[in-house]
Amino acid sequence: MTTTAYIGIGANLGEARKTVDYAIARLAQLPQTRLVQSSSLFLTAPIDSSGDDYINAVAELTTELDALSLLDHLQALELACGRERPYRNAPRTLDLDILLFGNAEINSERLIVPHPRMCERAFVMIPLLQLNPAITIPGKGAAHQYIPSLAGQGIQQLD
Ligand code: ATP
Ligand code: MG
Ligand code: MG
Repeated sequence: MTTTAYIGIGANLGEARKTVDYAIARLAQLPQTRLVQSSSLFLTAPIDSSGDDYINAVAELTTELDALSLLDHLQALELACGRERPYRNAPRTLDLDILLFGNAEINSERLIVPHPRMCERAFVMIPLLQLNPAITIPGKGAAHQYIPSLAGQGIQQLD
């Protein structure tokens, strides 16, 4: 079965822009997976976090993998890029989150989909809507309806 998945990408340590470009290239090489499109890169101020500004993007994949196998690959890629987790919301070389996995609603110990905090985050919703303006979030409705509430969050599209 082929599923369309959206991956949230973030980096704010080291050469964040290069890391995000590299991560997108590696997503395109995952087994049984195709990169359909990736958003622009965005520069965003840290929220509930510290350190430099973040580079964020969203990638759209189609995959034959199941959701947990996809998470395994994403976590391996985070580690390959030097991710450490010294404390919650610590600065990170690379964060790869499964935002959406088809229409699935998953609530397991390792994986919650749709990503539980995505609708509160401009750095997720703005690149996601750039890729798919009509997208709906299982259990939460049309993504675009969340945009007005995100107006206060500093986010700048890079070229
Ligand atoms: P946030 O979830 O608020 O964006 P974070 O991305 O910094 O925080 P991580 O340290 O990357 O959090 O991940 C912590 C755990 O979250 C992971 O070990 C993973 O098992 C779990 N997790 C639950 N749902 C998801 C998801 N949709 N995508 C990625 N990881 C998830
Ligand atoms: Mg995250
Ligand atoms: Mg994460």
